[in-house]
Amino acid sequence: MKGGEKKNYDVIIVGGGPGGLTAGLYASRARLGTLLIESALFGGQMTTTELVENYPGFPEGVTGDELSRLMEEQAKKFGMETVTQEVVKVSLEGDAKVVQTYESTYRCEALIISTGTEYRKLGVPGEKEFAGKGVSYCATCDGAFFRDSQIVVVGGGDSALTEALFLTKFAKELTIIHRRDALRGTKIYQERALANPKIKFLWNSIVQEIKGDSMVRSIIVKNVKTGEINELKTEGAFLFVGLVPRTQFLKGVVQMDEGGYILTNEHCETSAKGIYAVGDCRKKLLRQIATAVGDGATAAFAAEKFLELKE
Ligand code: NAP
Repeated sequence: MKGGEKKNYDVIIVGGGPGGLTAGLYASRARLGTLLIESALFGGQMTTTELVENYPGFPEGVTGDELSRLMEEQAKKFGMETVTQEVVKVSLEGDAKVVQTYESTYRCEALIISTGTEYRKLGVPGEKEFAGKGVSYCATCDGAFFRDSQIVVVGGGDSALTEALFLTKFAKELTIIHRRDALRGTKIYQERALANPKIKFLWNSIVQEIKGDSMVRSIIVKNVKTGEINELKTEGAFLFVGLVPRTQFLKGVVQMDEGGYILTNEHCETSAKGIYAVGDCRKKLLRQIATAVGDGATAAFAAEKFLELKE
């Protein structure tokens, strides 16, 4: 990690999902010197969503890739700089925020965190061992490898339902394994999944182990009501049991809840002056592209006002 030279910006945005890209658009249109740091692809979780149906302005839906491309293009149009690096540490030097990546050190007056979330691990034997060998957390990335296969999807939320519906394009048979007897996901996805002839449900059940040789071959499932344990043949296990925020690098800098979600007020301001959090990584009611975009605009505007008052 290099520590020497520090590049200065008015605003630095960490994370290039819809919240970060919108913050970048607003900050650069406000003529603030703006840098967006993203560790992977612009678009965040949108890039692994096949079709986005609930973002206004696209009555036929829009692919996650296309929406990501459009948001990136629009944000860059007004002069926002970008780098592909991973932020490992944020610290405060008086009013300045120092943002460290493996390669460089940056400094800014206002910092906007939009690092989103990542899929929670199930934490059962075999999960790590068979990751990429039948265990997956991304249907759009891996679905095509499971053509005519028998697979399982674990979870009962929107991710499990939307990814299961997508996977029916490839799989011969798909079982959703859920720990309760009622789904958590949005009603329209529930209706579609329940009506899909390729999708079966295994209710009140938890996965205890994932087994195989060079690839996944079966899973051990326990019925939490009866205690009965069964071994189910499967060629793939797609795990969608919730999300965890990517906020570890900010521990001790801003206040978070017990799950690591950043606490903010309605202006997206965190407990540290001049640091904002937007999108899925902040504690909020609804985590969607539409709400992330609103957060991004709010935080950039709040940052602009904060910088004006400092002058
Ligand atoms: P989620 O809503 O937190 O659902 C996680 C699911 O996994 C729940 O059904 C939960 O069961 C189950 N679960 C959690 N821990 C488990 C464990 N250890 N073993 C077995 N099952 C476990 O997570 P998500 O589905 O990833 O969605 C996250 C957010 O993204 C939500 O706000 C969602 O609306 C949003 N999202 C939206 C869309 C869309 O609108 N198209 C698509 C994807 C995600 P319980 O129900 O019993 O708690």
